[in-house]
Amino acid sequence: MAKTHILGYPRIGARRELKRALESYWRGELSSSQLYEVGAAVRRDNWRAQEQAGLEFVTVGDFAWYDQVLNHSLMFGVVPQRFTRGAADTKLDQYFRLARGRAPAGEPVAASAMTKWFDTNYHYLVPEFDATQEFTLDSEWLLAEVAEARAQGFPPKPVLIGPLTYLWLGRSGADRLGLLPRLLPLYRELLQQLAEAGVEWVQIDEPILGLDLEERWRQAFAASYEQLRTDAGPQLLLATYFSPLRENLPLAFSLPVQGVHIDAVRAPGEIDLAVAARSQGQVLSLGVVNGRNVWRTELAGWQQRLEPLERELGDALWLSASCSLLHCPVDLETEADLPAEQRQRLAYSRQKLEELQTLQAALASGQLLPGDGKSESPDTHGDTGVLAELRDSWRPQSYAERAPLQQQRLQLPVLPTTTIGSFPQTGLLRQVRRQFRTGEISEQEYRQHLRAEIAEAVRRQEILGLDVLVHGEAERNDMVEYFGEQLDGFIHTGNGWVQSYGSRCVKPPIIAGDIRRPQPMTVEWSRYAQGLTKKPVKGMLTGPVTILNWSFPREDIPRSASCLQIARALRDEVLDLEAAGIGIIQIDEPALREGVPLRESDHGAYFDWAVGCFRYTCSAVRPETQVHTHMCYSNFNTIMDAIVALDADVITIESARSDLRLLEAFASGDGGYPNEIGPGIYDIHSPNVPERAELVARLRKLVEVIPAKKLWVNPDCGLKTREWAEVGTSLLNMVEAAREVRTALEIVDIA
Ligand code: GLN
Ligand code: ZN
Repeated sequence: MAKTHILGYPRIGARRELKRALESYWRGELSSSQLYEVGAAVRRDNWRAQEQAGLEFVTVGDFAWYDQVLNHSLMFGVVPQRFTRGAADTKLDQYFRLARGRAPAGEPVAASAMTKWFDTNYHYLVPEFDATQEFTLDSEWLLAEVAEARAQGFPPKPVLIGPLTYLWLGRSGADRLGLLPRLLPLYRELLQQLAEAGVEWVQIDEPILGLDLEERWRQAFAASYEQLRTDAGPQLLLATYFSPLRENLPLAFSLPVQGVHIDAVRAPGEIDLAVAARSQGQVLSLGVVNGRNVWRTELAGWQQRLEPLERELGDALWLSASCSLLHCPVDLETEADLPAEQRQRLAYSRQKLEELQTLQAALASGQLLPGDGKSESPDTHGDTGVLAELRDSWRPQSYAERAPLQQQRLQLPVLPTTTIGSFPQTGLLRQVRRQFRTGEISEQEYRQHLRAEIAEAVRRQEILGLDVLVHGEAERNDMVEYFGEQLDGFIHTGNGWVQSYGSRCVKPPIIAGDIRRPQPMTVEWSRYAQGLTKKPVKGMLTGPVTILNWSFPREDIPRSASCLQIARALRDEVLDLEAAGIGIIQIDEPALREGVPLRESDHGAYFDWAVGCFRYTCSAVRPETQVHTHMCYSNFNTIMDAIVALDADVITIESARSDLRLLEAFASGDGGYPNEIGPGIYDIHSPNVPERAELVARLRKLVEVIPAKKLWVNPDCGLKTREWAEVGTSLLNMVEAAREVRTALEIVDIA
């Protein structure tokens, strides 16, 4: 009989208990022992759920106070010097200092860098290796959790991030791969400790096997795993996920490991190849339940597909979710308000465990599960039907033709100043929104309050002397949720939280049907703001690719088809804004890069429809209407071609933190950004107010690489998380700096 297991379970708790406990601990309101209790309760609930679903093991080591990669960094002694100085911290506080730059006590230091975990919206803390990096082993927490599971009667299967993936995720001045010989002995020792603790199986995650790996990284696998092999050690299950293995498939199965897990949701075509590649007796674990989405699994189809396999492999066939369930909400049972017909279609982590159990039982009994009539899962990356429709509809005029018409209409000075869209979401605003949601105040009162916020934002911007104003996004709680709530075709959950990083969770809307716009979504607010000022007010929309990438997508149609539906709805919104007299419309795409497939050979198909959908959104505006876009992540270089292809008249980008380095990419004559650019000149993520002189210096540097007539002046992202006090001074300094440099340029011009 096939066995069942999972690669990992969410650790935030079914009602985000861990989030609340962490934040209370950081505020000094909870003791460490109280925090430990909350963590232990979450682990116990998770293990119990796995046991109740009849899984072969419970997964241990997937719990983390902040991040599983950070757990490994501390386990192997990867603690940069700045965190060890004046170290009065307890182990727990050192952990939080690494994660957040601060602990309840002690001086703050610069936190570890954070970046996205493969193509998910989960952020891990990047290990920082120094050139002379030495590793040490401290496995106390993991052994304690193994013992804890065992004491509660659960058979533990610990999970580790494999040595190659761990090194690959880190950053180092020197060659990371060169650190491998120093790291491997510690993995070996750790496996021995786990064997001594009575562990039979260890899951060792090497998701980088799903990437385009350099040859030397590929080659390092065989020797490394040879070194981890011991007769007395636990059996190893090598886990891969998120991507087909392709050329790395034979490599994965040739390693001296007792089992291999593949992501059969992302790579159903590799099941047969895996069966053929596996060696005698080797366990094949198939991830058949989607760990990246919230839909019920079509179990009848899997039953049919797996029946012959089970006959062949017996208990060497393991069934699992495609990847850790970390990327799924916890338990549908907590969704009290979802209508039954929506709930029936969904499966959160807890329900996915039950799906595995159902499938296992059906395979064992031979009793056919009822089909739900869903067709085969579509190819989610390419879709030629969509592309044909997109190509016919670009803006007919080139930027060179549009720019003078825009300038004639807008009459902006050189180095025009603007902001990215949102202004501080004050305590009062949040309170009023809550009161509206709970019915304490009427819709009319709520709208009245929003108008007051907008009027105040416009007044402040006029006083500051900004050139292009925004209405401030007071009506939005979240840039995706706001649109999702107004468009048909989305499900909004009450408790569909997924960890984004640390204690931060997001609640992605679910695309459940065809997307339509029943009525305008933002026009009222933009028109109101524009009515208060003679300066141009920028309309503000979230782009189609970002809405898609920050939602749970449908599985019955390709992502590109949903994206086009969103683009159609937004295109109508753009036209309505234009008709309402809005001359500048910004369409934010901060998540453009997130949808990029992990394999480079798949990039082209993605960018074709993603860029196509963006262009479709603004395809029907008049040439004198100026289209802006905004993105905020620093690694633009790899997707520069796609950014250029968006053909927005103006792009505002995050660059303050990357110290203008990315400008090299934007400014370079060939392959650089040909239209107008607003490289953020200060970092809004920091509470520090930038000095005017500092901003002048930065602008002067900028005009050396970007022609002044193409340069905009703005902060690097929206200001919604800041306080008005800082925002006012920062923007005043920014406007004055722009004026100073502008004047200097004009003097040169006259001379
Ligand atoms: N317009 C949005 C804002 O200012 C953009 C947010 C973002 O880039 N993530 O808040
Ligand atoms: Zn941004």
